[in-house]
Amino acid sequence: MAENALSRVRGRIFDLQRFSVHDGPGIRTIVFLKGCMFRCRWCCNPEGQEFEPVTLKGKDGKERLAGEDITAGKVMELVAQDAPYYARSGGGLTLSGGEMLLQPDFALALLTLAHQMGINTAVETTGYASRETLARLLPEIDYVLLDIKHMDAEKHMKFIGKDNKRVLENAAFIARHAHNLVVRVPTIPTFNDTEEEIRAISRFAASLDGVQALHLLPYHRLGSDKYAAIGRSYPMGDLPLLSGERMRRLLEVAEESGLPCQIGG
Ligand code: SF4
Repeated sequence: MAENALSRVRGRIFDLQRFSVHDGPGIRTIVFLKGCMFRCRWCCNPEGQEFEPVTLKGKDGKERLAGEDITAGKVMELVAQDAPYYARSGGGLTLSGGEMLLQPDFALALLTLAHQMGINTAVETTGYASRETLARLLPEIDYVLLDIKHMDAEKHMKFIGKDNKRVLENAAFIARHAHNLVVRVPTIPTFNDTEEEIRAISRFAASLDGVQALHLLPYHRLGSDKYAAIGRSYPMGDLPLLSGERMRRLLEVAEESGLPCQIGG
């Protein structure tokens, strides 16, 4: 496809954040694509789960629509504004969501345009897609940040709404084909915060070819206000955060796998 045709590919986003330093190397712009096949109870972007636009109503009564149809070219115009920061810091574009794999043509257009502009690319993903989709996208992704949340299919289903079979099978495929791969584990109380659960995930990650590191992402409640704003109750209730001491112990367990590990991403 010619460059101008890629610019015209349309997709749906619900946010764009500049100057992020947590979602790939350097200073990055994060583009949040709308729609996700999962329903993680702890999700901090519930307004991104449905593909249809969602209205958030603030405590002050003001309303905001999450969900905007936009061309890849327009997104890249915004992303390109910070090109000098990417060049200095090794940063670039990160696609997040939602799950960017649900809009594969739009994601591919964004990633390809970024490369044509000399901007490196990262994605935050569950890896839940067809092999064909993954094979199309992976050559245009410099850094894959792959969530692996649980090794037990039933628990995965109970807390996320789908089992983990496809995630685990695709993780091996992604590991073989990704340029750079970090496994990220959202570490969630009552879901996967036992030593056995973290040990099982980190052993699996270490068994894959090419995983460079494993990051434990501590549970937080930063998205909890958004649930009220979209008329839902927060699924995690008032479950307390994991202590620093607990996270350090789980880090030690993860490090038994031999992978470089850290808390946070
Ligand atoms: S995969 Fe991510 S965006 Fe989708 S429901 Fe889970 S936390 Fe939310």
